[in-house]
Parts: sequence; C-alpha cells; structure tokens
Amino acid sequence: MNSIYNYSLKDLQDYFLDIGETKFRASQVFDWLYIKRVKTFNEMTNLKKDLIKYLNSNFSMEGLKLIKVQEDVDVKKYLFELYDGNKIEAVLMRHDYGNSLCVSSEVGCNMGCRFCESGRLKKVRDLLSFELVLQLLAVEEDIKERVSHVVLMGIGEPFDNYDNIMNFIKIINDPKGINIGIRHITVSTCGIIPKIEKFAEEQTGVNLAISLHAPNDEIRNKIMPINKVYNIEKLIRSVKEYINKTNRRVTFEYILLKGINDSKENAEELSLLLKGINCYVNLIPYNETSYLEYKTSDRVTISEFYDILKKNNISVTIRKEFGSKVSAACGQLRSEHFTESGR
Ligand code: SAH
Repeated sequence: MNSIYNYSLKDLQDYFLDIGETKFRASQVFDWLYIKRVKTFNEMTNLKKDLIKYLNSNFSMEGLKLIKVQEDVDVKKYLFELYDGNKIEAVLMRHDYGNSLCVSSEVGCNMGCRFCESGRLKKVRDLLSFELVLQLLAVEEDIKERVSHVVLMGIGEPFDNYDNIMNFIKIINDPKGINIGIRHITVSTCGIIPKIEKFAEEQTGVNLAISLHAPNDEIRNKIMPINKVYNIEKLIRSVKEYINKTNRRVTFEYILLKGINDSKENAEELSLLLKGINCYVNLIPYNETSYLEYKTSDRVTISEFYDILKKNNISVTIRKEFGSKVSAACGQLRSEHFTESGR
C-alpha cells in the first residue's frame, strides 16, 4: 500500500520531480494533507485533473479505522484497526501544558519485558510511517484540537523500527505540515545500544527516554531480557556518549515494582549509578496488569525512594498517573493480531 502519508515533504518533492512535476505541486499536496486536511485527492482543487488522476491511481489516502474510544479524566484511549486487520492503540493525555499523544510503533513487541502487557503479543510487524502519522491525524480530528506533544511510548519498541519512526518524526515535525516541535517529541527505548548510537549521530533534537527500571544487572536481567544483550554498564556508557554528542538531557524511566526494585538500597544504588549524568529520573508507579506477580509499590515506599534520589542530588519526578481505569496507562496497551478466526 503506497500511502501518501509515508512521504515527508522532501520525499514528495523528489517523487514529483521524478514524474516530471514541480516541487511546488508537491508542496500544494502536502498543504492539502496536513493544513487543510482533506480526505481525498479529488478535493485538491488547485491541482490539474491529470495529476489528481495520477495520484488516485498511485497513492492511497486511506485512514485508520477507529474501532473504539474510551475516555477517563484527562485521557482518551483509541483502538485502531490497520488495513490488514491488526489492531493497535494510541492514548491522548491532557496536560496543563498541552495535549500529548502516546503512539504505538509496532504491532506487538519482541522485547519481552516481564511486567508489560504490550509484550503479550509477540511482534507481528513494524508499523509503517503512515500508520504512525495517521494515529495523530485521527486523534486531532476527534478532539478538534492540536496535539502539541508526541511520545513514542505506546505498543512496541521504537528502536526496533528505527527507519519508520525517524521518517514519522520528519513528517510530523515539518513546519509546513503538522509542525510538532522537535523538543516536544520523545522516543523511549528499553536500551537498544546500536540505535542509541545512531540516534546520537543524527542530532535530531528529539528527546530520549530510557526504560531503566533497575539499578543493577541482577534485577534488570530478571525483568528485562534485553539486559542480557546490552547490560547496564554498556547502556550507561552509551547514554553518556549520547549526552556528550548531543548535549541533551536524558530521562530514565523507573517503574516501581513492589519488593523487586523499590527498596532504600535500590534507591541508593540507582543514585550512585546515575551520579554526575545529565539526566532526570521519572519514577512510575506500576500500573497493575495481568502479570499478577507484579504489584504497585506502597505510597510510602514511593515517596521514600523519591526522597533518597533527591537527597543524592538526582533530579526526579513521580509520573502523574493517567488512564489506569481505561487500561490506557503505560504498559497496559495491547495489540490484537488479526487472524481469520479471531475477527
Ligand atoms: N519499548 C519502549 C517504548 C514503550 S514505553 C520502552 O521500553 O521504552 C512504555 C513505558 O512504560 C516503558 O518505560 C515501559 O517499561 C513502561 N511500562 C511497561 N509496563 C508498565 C506498567 N504496567 N506500568 C507502568 N509502566 C509500564
């Protein structure tokens, strides 16, 4: 499926030049897609009939099928069906600083983090750039407002689908289109080091978040299989190199799991690990899932953990909880794989 929403402005211009059209025509099409937001090529009334005909026979403008919307205070969860019947979710969060959209990057996920619902379905396929773009367009259409921030923290591991997510970022960042500020975009990874290095090279200005969740290999090995490939020492080294190259602050996400990684010793150990790194820690109260062995830490434990990091001069915040009632919170999103019988 050659979706027109796969093309950045530059790619569309190059394509148009290749077919003997002008860059200007490509800009007009881009404008119809992302500023005027029409749904068919036929509505692009400043294009010649021949070009409209060409576009109709060579590109698709089909959107995602919105299957279900669930709403709670300050949060809306969207279930979408893709062209091949697979299903993914996106979550809109209303913050005081704007509307933040959490998009999925894959159907299913292969990272196998023990506590995360999204990994219940192994990866079926990458999402293509247009399927990420369309999540955003569908949500803006639904709320009739702008989304100001985008986080790649839905289903999937963004760095396991690197090229598509980078192209997606290029498309939504374009000032002539959706225009999401580069500093308003965050990519979260469980720690795929070669891609962290590549990301550093590209100097995009996009924010990087690392799902750390443990202060040492012993704990991390138990809850995040990726740690057996890229352990904490290697991960921290690559984050330091990233910071040196980009001069950007990195976020470490740390879910608090009762009795597993939430002790005072763990907080001290984490402080030591992150000492001197230009970062901040986002403590995430665990959202309980169908993995019954993992529980949310008590309030007192969370605040003690927080206090220890503070005392050790680590910048730290406790993440505001969103959407656990509608299972829209971190780690609660699930893909559904299309099967003939399951439809
Ligand atoms: N694969 C990427 C992108 C997903 S981001 C990554 O791992 O970073 C989703 C974030 O929510 C990750 O930090 C993930 O570890 C965290 N998470 C997963 N399950 C959770 C749960 N049940 N409660 C709270 N956070 C969870």
